[in-house]
Amino acid sequence: MHDGWFVEDTTHGPVQVDTFDPSRPHEGKVLGIVQAHADDMPLCSGGLVAKLVAEGYRAFIIQTTNDEKCGAGTIADAIKSNEVDVEALARSLDIEDVFNLGYRNHRQDENSIIEQRCRLIFLFRHLRVDTVMSFHPWARWEENPDHYITGYAVESACWIAGAAKSFPEQVQAGIPAHGVKDKYYWVMRPGSPYNHVTDISPFLDKKIESMATNKSQGPAGAHGRMLKARLAGEGLRLPELGEDDETADRQYIRLFGLEENKRMGAPYGLEYAEYHYYFPPGGTFPSMRVAERIDDYVKAHGVKV
Ligand SMILES: [Zn+2]
Repeated sequence: MHDGWFVEDTTHGPVQVDTFDPSRPHEGKVLGIVQAHADDMPLCSGGLVAKLVAEGYRAFIIQTTNDEKCGAGTIADAIKSNEVDVEALARSLDIEDVFNLGYRNHRQDENSIIEQRCRLIFLFRHLRVDTVMSFHPWARWEENPDHYITGYAVESACWIAGAAKSFPEQVQAGIPAHGVKDKYYWVMRPGSPYNHVTDISPFLDKKIESMATNKSQGPAGAHGRMLKARLAGEGLRLPELGEDDETADRQYIRLFGLEENKRMGAPYGLEYAEYHYYFPPGGTFPSMRVAERIDDYVKAHGVKV
């Protein structure tokens, strides 16, 4: 971490403003995105995921619920259409694979936390996940149990995955213990803590494309084509919405769906931004990185034997 990145100190730590580095500083690293619903990641992190993949990360989605409550038709229709949307989401951001855990939507709190942790640990070890992106389990104002239970399971799985005596049969079966090094937590509700600001302006088209894959639910997805159809019924047309439905969906997001990202960017002189709470390797505050302090101390005070 470079001291020059810090532009502000807050009660939740120094704030880092992060801009795109085209030198692929993360080549070969693995990003594990753990979301509960099809719209979570694209809304919170579509820009940052596009940036991290362009910087060299291989990315994977782990989806905890089956999204059965959100979408048109029956419960079975909703499960299917959301699954199709998440596959399209993965393609839109060059994400390599999607793992569906299939827990029932809005009922995450009925599942064994140990089972959820075990399944996440298996995947973190199998994929050799370096960096996780998910919900902040201690964020304020969160009302969705799928969000806080998923975040709670992820947080413990990240470090317990590195302990070989936890679920030792996995290790014995040839999947070595492997702890997650750093974490990006989402800012889902106003007032949730953040210490990381991403300039997403170079990746705005990718963020819009990722948000537009969510046809089944959420504030994005298919609203452009719906507005175009409504206006046509009233004998009107918005030229910005273009000629076809997919263009209308993406243009709708560009025109009306990025207000929050503009608001986040403004205090940092950015046109569009995303906020995250970032845990760097070794902890949030520089003083917590004990190994670095020991190295420095030995360098200054060590004497030849
Ligand atoms: Zn959600």
